[in-house]
Amino acid sequence: MASLIDNARKLQEEFTAEAGKVRETPRSSLIEELRVSWLGRKGALNKLYEDLKSVDKAERPEAGKAINQLRQSIEKEVNELKELAVGFEIKEKLSRTPVDISLPLKGELSQGSLHPVTLMRSLLLKAFRRLGFTVYDGPEVDQDFYNFSALNIPEHHPARDMQDTFFLKDKNFLLRTHTSNIQIHAMLQEKPPVRLVAPGRVYRVDNDATHTPMFHQIECVVVDRGISFSHLKGIIDSFLKSVFGNDLQTRFRPSFFPFVEPGAEVDLQCTICRGKGCRVCSHTGWLEIGGSGMIHPNVFESVQYDSEDYTGFAFGFGIDRMAMLAYGLPDLRQMFTGDYRYLSQFPIYR
Ligand SMILES: [Zn+2]
Repeated sequence: MASLIDNARKLQEEFTAEAGKVRETPRSSLIEELRVSWLGRKGALNKLYEDLKSVDKAERPEAGKAINQLRQSIEKEVNELKELAVGFEIKEKLSRTPVDISLPLKGELSQGSLHPVTLMRSLLLKAFRRLGFTVYDGPEVDQDFYNFSALNIPEHHPARDMQDTFFLKDKNFLLRTHTSNIQIHAMLQEKPPVRLVAPGRVYRVDNDATHTPMFHQIECVVVDRGISFSHLKGIIDSFLKSVFGNDLQTRFRPSFFPFVEPGAEVDLQCTICRGKGCRVCSHTGWLEIGGSGMIHPNVFESVQYDSEDYTGFAFGFGIDRMAMLAYGLPDLRQMFTGDYRYLSQFPIYR
């Protein structure tokens, strides 16, 4: 037994010497090494506890006490060293050569770029703000009412087949199929007159070279007393000219959309050949760009606007389609691959 207590005393001396050395430069890594070699599973202390098993039962308490004292003294020293380490390591870091932030950059600076859809959206919003429109936002996950019913598309209306919709598990909710839900939210909040523009992501079950399941639309709504179709034509023409250039003409073709009456498709002279005829416009000189029309009285009814007193128009364009035309891109899907080499090549359009 005497030998075990002696042994503990000897180990204490050994530890004190080792810890003293660590104290000179108390780095966390050195302290951890010290801790493992003494207190770790295969450390010196655990070996002592093993030896304790072979000590006579009568003498075991005193021997155990000696080992416990040794353990406590080691733990105390390790904890003290850890506290010293914090201050020591900060001082060490600060004493290294400081970084000179005024030095010129080595090599080429790589610059980020904006997505073509983002570039087109800011260009469009700039044009609308100049015309005095307010920008609105609305939910991408919405209720049937805002996306369909309030827009004169009641249940079982054939127009619902025109858009293949992503419904949520709870069939009352869906991913909006157009940005037109925003005009309903906005008109329920605001009294006329209204002059709003609403850009955003929309979703349809569709995927080919000119359709993606997620795409971007921009919608424009004006409601006031005495608004007529000529206002609609004037605004669309002036906004398209400000985006694509003054030399391009706009034309309107009668068409059907449930939320407008009358409705019209909007064509713009080809942005590539400027109306002369090319492959992109199938040699017609014209490109389909969006839909428009005078707001249907049923839509006014669902937002409690008096359709005897007020009239208004709405039109919507695909932002991705406009970006495609502006940059002459063959496949819409490429824009959403996330390929940096592809996406980093777009300059500001105008
Ligand atoms: Zn063309």
